[in-house]
Amino acid sequence: MKNPILDNLNPNQLQAVKSTEGYIRVIAGAGSGKTKALTSRFAYIVDRLGINSSNILCVTFTNKAAQEMKKRVKALIGDTFDVGFITTYHGFCVRFLREEINKIHYPKNFIILDAEDQKSILREVFTELNINSKHLTFKQVLRFISKSKSTSDYLGYILENKNFKPDETDTLSSQVFQKYLEKQKRNYALDFDDLIHFTVFILNQNADVLLKWQENMHYIQVDEAQDSSESQFQLVEMLSRIHNNLFLVGDPDQTIYEWRGAKPEYLVDFDQMFPDTQTIIMNQNYRSTPNILKVGNHIIKNNTVRVAKDMVTDNKEGVEVVHFHGKNDFEETLWVASEIKEIIKSENAAYSDITILYRSNHISRNIEQALIKENIPYAIFGGIRFFERKEIKDVLSLLRLIVQRDNFSFLRMHNHPSRGLGKKFLERLSFLAAEQNLSLLTTLEKNKDDKELAKKGAVEFLNLISELKEFSLNKSISDLVKIILDKSGLSELYRKDGDEDRLENIKELVSSMLLMEKENNGPVNISEYLQEVALYTDLDADTEQQDKVKLMTIHISKGLEFPYVFLCGFTEGVLPSALSIKERRKRAIEEERRLMYVAITRAEKRFYMTDSEGFNFTTGLNKYPSRFLFEISEEFYIRKGKLSKEIIENSKIKSQNPQSENTLLFNVGDLVMHPVWNKGKVLGVNEDKNQYTIAFLETGKEKPIDFSFRFLTRV
Ligand code: ATP
Ligand code: MG
Repeated sequence: MKNPILDNLNPNQLQAVKSTEGYIRVIAGAGSGKTKALTSRFAYIVDRLGINSSNILCVTFTNKAAQEMKKRVKALIGDTFDVGFITTYHGFCVRFLREEINKIHYPKNFIILDAEDQKSILREVFTELNINSKHLTFKQVLRFISKSKSTSDYLGYILENKNFKPDETDTLSSQVFQKYLEKQKRNYALDFDDLIHFTVFILNQNADVLLKWQENMHYIQVDEAQDSSESQFQLVEMLSRIHNNLFLVGDPDQTIYEWRGAKPEYLVDFDQMFPDTQTIIMNQNYRSTPNILKVGNHIIKNNTVRVAKDMVTDNKEGVEVVHFHGKNDFEETLWVASEIKEIIKSENAAYSDITILYRSNHISRNIEQALIKENIPYAIFGGIRFFERKEIKDVLSLLRLIVQRDNFSFLRMHNHPSRGLGKKFLERLSFLAAEQNLSLLTTLEKNKDDKELAKKGAVEFLNLISELKEFSLNKSISDLVKIILDKSGLSELYRKDGDEDRLENIKELVSSMLLMEKENNGPVNISEYLQEVALYTDLDADTEQQDKVKLMTIHISKGLEFPYVFLCGFTEGVLPSALSIKERRKRAIEEERRLMYVAITRAEKRFYMTDSEGFNFTTGLNKYPSRFLFEISEEFYIRKGKLSKEIIENSKIKSQNPQSENTLLFNVGDLVMHPVWNKGKVLGVNEDKNQYTIAFLETGKEKPIDFSFRFLTRV
């Protein structure tokens, strides 16, 4: 009899699926069927052991991977099971916090801050501290905040009234951080990093809560375990302590989030923590052709911090891996476009079989130009994220204002579309809000007769909000959005702008809400909806079905597979990134090499890597092919496009002597000449960042210039 759950599994996978009890880890390379084993195991536990699917927690890293897992599980056991606990860590934490956050006296409808909300907090903090981007950029502060939140030390300050511990090495960032935390707390707002820490905190402090969740989670499975952080690992480990069933799968060679706290050690040393651990190794690759696999195996061998393992495959030989070198950006991307057309024709492939990967988002611009020129349809995953698009945020902000009455949404929407509420109005309102310790919206409601606040626009806005609030009580969320568009003047505004795309996007939003209502068999709670979408950071789900070439970063592609893969911008300073080259640490370069490995191993049938010559305006250097290209021996791929001996030699020299890029040539006080801004004076030398601060005399502006910028000369 055919058995969809257990057929098509190899003996190791079968072992993984059937070993349901205890502490188990699967360590295996890319494309070896780890996720397949994990999803089959989930199905097996439900279908063969009769366990309710809501008693199995199954976590992974990205939304996209979680969706892929749900799809695979549903294909095995059908649509009728609750797969809500197949989710990301963040998704689980939100679900947990919705039930338990009252333990720390936060409201159930707490706010989740996105990047834009974080910046709006920082804007306030900067004003209060009287600092600006000359002292610190938002990017620097956000990095500092994220770093400070990589452990849970900061929680004591916001949740337990402990003293704030400033970072002595960076007192200004520390000061900003402290104020940021205060504002977060005042607004009951959590950023992404908080979700996990708050969850673990509540579990640690409340034995009854811990017990309840431990009892509920009979089986726990983690995919991509190599990228779990310390607190993420702590979470699943503590939840597993009653039933003692924890199943981890991962590939240490695919750790690509060390910069964000990934601790592959937990997977690697799992057997020391739990001596009864059963370890399952798999090394047969089902995804890629031997040609592609050879390149992957070959490149990852150059990492020194790893456990050696080579993948083998029985797949057909396939075509050779190709490297294309263009004379410039255009040549590179036009070649990609023409090759795509060739694949479509000769392989009878669809556009959606083809994926273009890159190390960093800005590379997509060139690629997009070529695709547009050649009439090739494409969709970007994780570019401007759907839920961060302006028009979508407008609508969501109004929704949020209705249910959560938060200041972020108020600031965004009170004068959008314009209601003549200017700076003075806001200053007065903020002053009163601080004085009365109320939110901006409540302050306005209570003080609408104040001389400076009594404006026609303010009355209009208050009426709008109360009217919408009324509607929200008895309308579905999709209907409410239609009403919002109409009454708020946003529809008219977008129509006037002539921006059809915006209206299209909103239609897409409404249809996604309809879908959710259908899945839910009834109305969707607005604050739950808002918390849910706050987590959709890395994909635009609706483009999935369309026949378009996919563009995405390597980080987003993890765990996925595609028949044809192009890796574009395979350039030194892009992959490996300039930042990791600058760090001069082996560890940083090894993480970049793992990214390269992840990129290669996404491909099933063909893999291409492309780069081009030219000038890189960020580094001020000529472009050279990535050092990783020269780590692959030439017999493993064929080259198209001309790569001169000189370039090959120069690239090798450069990547072997990265130090030469960071040598200090000038001192404070030196006069220098810049090719664009002419004469300047060195004001500062920052050895941490490898950059000078130079005041340019003609423009009167100060600029940070890299030590490595070659075109700076002494006057
Ligand atoms: P990654 O490390 O990239 O996440 P993975 O180890 O999770 O990869 P899967 O995505 O589970 O690998 O599997 C890779 C491909 O191989 C999938 O298309 C899957 O259907 C197929 N596959 C897995 N196991 C088998 C098998 N036993 N027989 C045939 N095909 C298989
Ligand atoms: Mg996988």
